[in-house]
Amino acid sequence: MKTPIGSLNPAVRSVHIWGGGVAGLLMGHFLSRQGFDVQLYEKSDRLGGKIQSHQLPEGIIEAGPNAIFATAEIESWLQSLGLTLIPATPKLKRRLWNGTPLAPMSLGLALKLLPKLFKRTPSVNDGITVAQFFRPLLGTHVESLLSPALQGVYGCGADELTIASVWPQLRPGRYWQVLRSLKGTRARSVSFKGGMSEFIQALAKSIKGQIHLNNTSAFELRPNTIICTEAPAASLLLNGSWAEGARLLERLEYLPLSSVTVLTPEIPETRGVFGYLFPRASGVNTLGVLFNREIFPQRTGMTFILPGTEDVEARVRTDLQKLSWPTGDIKMHSWTKALPRYNQTRTTTLKALQHDPERPFELILFGNYVAGISLRDMIQTAKSFSGTHAPL
Ligand SMILES: Cc1cc2nc3c(=O)[nH]c(=O)nc-3n(C[C@H](O)[C@H](O)[C@H](O)COP(=O)(O)OP(=O)(O)OC[C@H]3O[C@@H](n4cnc5c(N)ncnc54)[C@H](O)[C@@H]3O)c2cc1C
Repeated sequence: MKTPIGSLNPAVRSVHIWGGGVAGLLMGHFLSRQGFDVQLYEKSDRLGGKIQSHQLPEGIIEAGPNAIFATAEIESWLQSLGLTLIPATPKLKRRLWNGTPLAPMSLGLALKLLPKLFKRTPSVNDGITVAQFFRPLLGTHVESLLSPALQGVYGCGADELTIASVWPQLRPGRYWQVLRSLKGTRARSVSFKGGMSEFIQALAKSIKGQIHLNNTSAFELRPNTIICTEAPAASLLLNGSWAEGARLLERLEYLPLSSVTVLTPEIPETRGVFGYLFPRASGVNTLGVLFNREIFPQRTGMTFILPGTEDVEARVRTDLQKLSWPTGDIKMHSWTKALPRYNQTRTTTLKALQHDPERPFELILFGNYVAGISLRDMIQTAKSFSGTHAPL
């Protein structure tokens, strides 16, 4: 489902948005462009949610997302917001690490997979995992190749993700047909001179209406109320006005994750490399590491993404030792609910929310548990929801 839950009443020219992360700000931006008066309520003292850039003497570091994987259309829209884009250094190598760094796809592997591309895929139902679906094609490369790639986006491997949740549009067929259908529009990673927070500031500036930080006023279900918080917070907000919705939202599962930037001196083997992904069999705690200096100018250190929020510093230091990399100062961010799980529970819960007869007609739900986890998906969904037909 790549659409928010619920629809706008266009006759009411105002909207009330709860949550000032990127989801809420995107809704605020596109609906301002459509002439709505926007009232945005954020419970904390800052906007951006998971997006947080920090300027250190050594350079900029990101707590959460470090880039938008942007199409040409998204790039022009970002420029129309007055942002100067910094594209990621082209042609950086992506590496898998399993004792040594390896290229994800070798000629030998591609030749081995070629005949299997003509095999038929299993059929799709709400419960089939990404691992089960791709096993006949990839065999053990599900664990050594596919899972590490998915970890980089979803924070977990192919056996914890379902096809219906990750790729709702996917239809079974021959593998080559499926892979062709998954090929998206050309895109590249972009950020901004001052980091990702510049994007947040530009969105906030474009909103016509009022932004209420440190909001303490009680939630009220008014026409065109858009809840853009994480699902558990949305559940609490709706407790008094839509009991079944609150119960369903509480069921959605989240992954705890930590992001750790280590301020090491430059390491020669990271030159020309975007980052490493670690298959679980590598025995490394980290899911993936980004070589920030290589990717964007004025960035520093390397950012490790780890599952969980416990013993984070110790686990990173163990990994640094295993990789024989020097250690350095550590800047750490942990979230108990970092990313929603794109699993069967999510698919069935979203369907139940969509079809519940008691769903208040004036309510809309949006956020990264609804219509795609990436910033690119969220930009495209918020834009099409607002009814803006003009190019992004
Ligand atoms: C470590 C990490 C790295 C990532 N890297 C990338 C990347 O490189 N590229 C990419 O495209 N995506 C990336 N993502 C995914 C992306 O960052 C998220 O999907 C996105 O930022 C989520 O935005 P959101 O607005 O849905 O939620 P959030 O950012 O969680 O915002 C929710 C907001 O709601 C507020 N709120 C909560 N309760 C209430 C309440 N009761 N009233 C009012 N406000 C409330 C919160 O304070 C918060 O500001 C990454 C995610 C993580 C965790």
